[in-house]
Formats: sequence, C-alpha cells, structure tokens
Amino acid sequence: MMVLPLEFAILGLDDVEHDLLREACRTLKSCLGVVCDVEGYERLRPEFYEPAKGLYRAEPILRLLARRARRRLLLALADVDAYAGGLNFIFGIAGMGEGVAMVFLPRLKPEFYGRRSDRELFLSRMRKEVLHEIGHLLGLGHCDNDCVMRFSDRIEEVDSKPEGFCDGCSRKLERIGVNVRCRA
Ligand SMILES: [Zn+2]
Ligand SMILES: [Zn+2]
Repeated sequence: MMVLPLEFAILGLDDVEHDLLREACRTLKSCLGVVCDVEGYERLRPEFYEPAKGLYRAEPILRLLARRARRRLLLALADVDAYAGGLNFIFGIAGMGEGVAMVFLPRLKPEFYGRRSDRELFLSRMRKEVLHEIGHLLGLGHCDNDCVMRFSDRIEEVDSKPEGFCDGCSRKLERIGVNVRCRA
C-alpha cells in the first residue's frame, strides 16, 4: 500500500559522492514533488560480489536494503557495476515488493566508454535512471513513447530518452497522488 505523501530516502552504497545523493533527492523533489531526505550510507558486503563476473549481484543488495525501507521508499546509488538475473549488467533495478530501487553509476560515466569525462552528461544520465527506477517503484512499466520509462540497455538509448514522463505515464502517477512536474 502506498503511503501518501510519498516519502523517499536516498542512500549511498560504499563510496558515492555526497553531492550525487543530494542531486538524486533534488531530482525527485523537483520532478515528482515528493518528500526526500539524504539518509547516509550502507556498506556493500563482500558476499554480494561475484568474482567470476567482476560485478555485484543486485538482488541480495535489494533484500538487505528492504530492511531499511520501512514506510518510506528507498533509492540507493552505488558506484559499482552490477548485474541481475540473466542480464550481463544493469544500469538500475527496482524491487517493487521491497520498496527499494538502485542505480549503478559506473556505466553512466562517459569515461567508461573511453570518452572524455563530462559531468553534465553523467548527471543527466543519472537523473534519467533515477526517474526510471522510481517510475518502476511507483508501478510504471516500460513505455514506448518519448519517455523516461522507455527501456534502455545501451547508453545510447539512455542518451536518446528525455528526462521526463510522457502524458500517459504522468497520468498513471497522478492517479496515485504524484504530481509530475517534469514532462517529456
Ligand atoms: Zn526499466
Ligand atoms: Zn511513458
């Protein structure tokens, strides 16, 4: 059951710049008009790391974080690479049952693709992935419109989608009491 007004808490996993946690909070406040607090940090446990792949497994992290979610929704940012299920890697994941979403930062950085570092591009990608995963957390599925809920498993697809929700997705969010201010 959704608690209104919606309250979000932002966490960093291990070493994530505090500024990025604040940027994620600002995005949720300004785009969705929700309450948001930067809560702090949680340690990634070594048993979540899969040495054969060189990546973290996302599902057990979701389950760990679910214990901190309580009556708020939780968004965690992690500066590590991760995968889930049969996917080679993921930009983010949302556990609707757990009330927890995560966004993984390394593949959002231009440097990952051999490009020059670009803070604005990185932040824009992060905001899109934050809104996308929070959209899932609030019950939205993938969307074929020009919309932040469009599926993307390549960075070019992240870059080509807008930092906002289409009319259809906005209406769905409005039905659960979210006032969408960032429209595609
Ligand atoms: Zn998705
Ligand atoms: Zn949409």
